[in-house]
Amino acid sequence: MTTHFLLVPFMAQGHMIPMLDIAHVLAHRGAKVTFVTTHMNAATIRPIIHRATNSGLSIVVVELNFPCSEVGLPDGFESADQLYTSDQFLTFFRALPLLQPQLELCLQSNKPDCVIFDFQHAWAALAARNFGISRLSFHGTAAFFLLCYRNIEKEGILLSKDDTSENDPYAVPGNLPQDIVLTRAKTRLWPDTPEWREIREEIILGEESADGVVLNSFAELEPWFIERYREAVDKPLWPIGPLSLHAGLGEMRGKVVSLDTDQLMAWLDSNEQRSVVFANFGSLVRHSPSQLVEIGYGLEKSGRPFIWVVKEAGEKIEVRGRGLVIRGWAPQVSILSHGAVGGFLTHCGWNSVVEAVAAGVPIATWPHFSDQFMNERLVVDFLRVGVAVEGTEVPPEFFVDGDRYQVGREGVEKAIGRLMDEGEEAEGRRQRAKELGEKARRAVEKGGSSFDGLTELIRRFSK
Ligand code: UDP
Repeated sequence: MTTHFLLVPFMAQGHMIPMLDIAHVLAHRGAKVTFVTTHMNAATIRPIIHRATNSGLSIVVVELNFPCSEVGLPDGFESADQLYTSDQFLTFFRALPLLQPQLELCLQSNKPDCVIFDFQHAWAALAARNFGISRLSFHGTAAFFLLCYRNIEKEGILLSKDDTSENDPYAVPGNLPQDIVLTRAKTRLWPDTPEWREIREEIILGEESADGVVLNSFAELEPWFIERYREAVDKPLWPIGPLSLHAGLGEMRGKVVSLDTDQLMAWLDSNEQRSVVFANFGSLVRHSPSQLVEIGYGLEKSGRPFIWVVKEAGEKIEVRGRGLVIRGWAPQVSILSHGAVGGFLTHCGWNSVVEAVAAGVPIATWPHFSDQFMNERLVVDFLRVGVAVEGTEVPPEFFVDGDRYQVGREGVEKAIGRLMDEGEEAEGRRQRAKELGEKARRAVEKGGSSFDGLTELIRRFSK
């Protein structure tokens, strides 16, 4: 009998994309997949689903109605990348459990063998539990982060003392193989208010009710952390990544690409191997006009050819010299896997990190919020494939810069200079990145750790 998985992604690009990847890898391996999301998000992914079903994959989308006007959000605000303020974010998170009755109807009629829910959808875990259906939580982040954050919560590190201690350094607790020093401000996932604490408590309940955990990571990337996290949660853990490598979605990831991909590839072809810097900051970060100016000058002053993705609306950016600016959405995975790309300036969203690792590209790390500061430590201190941009700070309003800039042009130029340098240090980084990329490819091939993990996962839930 075909095993039936029902997937409930969190509505944000950085969560939808890896869940769509999971849908594809499961369907490629013969499973039946039901993908549950809201109308607006379903419309965005329609071309991808269409292509999947045309090629014989069993992926069906079930659409839920997200009650925007009921909760006070503008109509169609169904994805986190449309939100600007922490108030809107709070409203969004609080509205999510309103989807539970619709999901329960869907579970009743579909009767899947297993629900894979984004860890932020505790209500989906509870719905599955109500129907006695097995459920796995999906974390679009590293075991490294999950283990560290678990230790931090256990020790009460984030329970605020006073504001002045927000920027004091502390060492992440737990017997880690190496010290990790961060500040509370750079560790917080959400604002420290009773409302957000309540949301976090619900999320923990959902995670506790899960029968296992799925990760977009792979055994060879962070073996020590994967094992320790498995022990800590005492549940089966399936690191089945890098998802981008075996989902086969190519440039059909996220939104519609904002330029002609053939032209872009021709531009990349015209550059030397490993010479181009690719700068992209994910789907949520929004830079202030002054920060954009500094990034632009920094890239130009680096003297390297570059591709810079700018999604901030209305900014007039003039680039001289050897730069290419993409306004809107770029085919990130296709760019990273082009041989001309030699370095990636990123905000360290976990998907971006894994995609760079999969492509064997070294990273200049510029974290902004959430798990990104922790991801930076993994990349720079443990994997040793990154150079940290100096002076990075948490933006004042979630992921939106205020009117000032955090990192000046010299900071951008310096990090790129170190990353793209020809010296021994940069060569070592390049070599390690290449080796990790090879390990990543082997992980998803037949007989590789992620491939076998996926086989085991499907078998576990087949009737
Ligand atoms: N992405 C893309 N093109 C863009 C911007 C982002 O394809 O122009 C993809 C990127 O490849 C990744 C995801 O969007 O898969 C962003 O996820 P990440 O975790 O890196 O950051 P977030 O957007 O969640 O901050």
